[in-house]
Amino acid sequence: MPTTVTAAVARTGQHGFSIERLELEDPRPDEVLVRYTAAGLCHTDLEAAAGRLPTPHPVVLGHEGAGVVEAVGSGVTGFRPGDRVVLSLDSDGTCRNCLAGQPAYCERHVPLNFESQRADGSVGLTDSAGPVHDHFFGQSSFASHGLAHPRGLIKVDDEVPLATLAPLGCGIVTGAGAVFNSLRVQAGSTVAVFGVGSVGLSALMAAAACGATRVIAVDTKPERLALAKELGATDLVDAVTADTTEAITALTGGRGVDYSVESTGVVAVMNTAIAALAPLGSAAILGVAALDATLHANVFELLKGRTITGSVMGHQAPGVLIPRLLGLHRQGRFPFDRMISTYPLADINTAVADVKTGSTAKAVLTHAA
Ligand SMILES: [Zn+2]
Ligand SMILES: [Zn+2]
Repeated sequence: MPTTVTAAVARTGQHGFSIERLELEDPRPDEVLVRYTAAGLCHTDLEAAAGRLPTPHPVVLGHEGAGVVEAVGSGVTGFRPGDRVVLSLDSDGTCRNCLAGQPAYCERHVPLNFESQRADGSVGLTDSAGPVHDHFFGQSSFASHGLAHPRGLIKVDDEVPLATLAPLGCGIVTGAGAVFNSLRVQAGSTVAVFGVGSVGLSALMAAAACGATRVIAVDTKPERLALAKELGATDLVDAVTADTTEAITALTGGRGVDYSVESTGVVAVMNTAIAALAPLGSAAILGVAALDATLHANVFELLKGRTITGSVMGHQAPGVLIPRLLGLHRQGRFPFDRMISTYPLADINTAVADVKTGSTAKAVLTHAA
């Protein structure tokens, strides 16, 4: 029996998302039918909606889903109806990087997460005109229901509301995991976070949780900097009114920072994040820039033991990292819920506008029960 689904659809030539009723197939043997209760809105969704990613249209996006398992395919083990789940990215589980426990670097990452169809080219959703792409990041969670692959599902217990849990699947793990796993921030160290949207704020909270004693937030929007202060930044640099490099030099006694995290996707900011490092310092680049973007690093300075690393999805399997973050959250040491604003799915275009102006740090779309 197909399920009637309410979803936000992105179509070529259409401004914003339209809320539509679609038909969803039953799960195939290797799929799970999830009733979504919430989905985080991430920059990647907007890039895909704008046609700047290899994602075909029309498509239901959404890759930070949370919900309840409604049905499982005949070949699925480990999940059953009623399980509360958070969804993260899809991966094949068989390539070298997956076997090394790093599904974010799966060799089939692009087809499995961006092409929004099954391996055989089919999709689960249809409207009156024909197929609508789903399986975006193995989920397409801007919908009341979706077909997901069990490899992207993480079971969670009952205490935290699903609307709060939703953004753990991408943006939050990306920021926090870069600090824990790529940089391995040490207690008593100095950290600068460039760009304090939801990814940068997650990095900042993680740095504070690691015991960094100076956590410098750099941004161009005063409301974001104010939230950064509430969430653990010890110092704020407004990049509109201050020279960032000079400000960081002054805040660190001329030394530079031990770690920097860049989450803006702006190449000039990435270069500043590298230049801000102390000797032996490490920079993590998280922002997504143009395919041909190139960094500039002074080689002589790099030889002083500095490291530059790229990091996505927290550099650790989400099934390991998400429970770590929930443990810290439970103790009040990772208060990521304070950056979330919720919107009904029908108000998705308002959520997009609010994230663009910076008045909302992290938008979470909620689905009516
Ligand atoms: Zn793989
Ligand atoms: Zn994302």
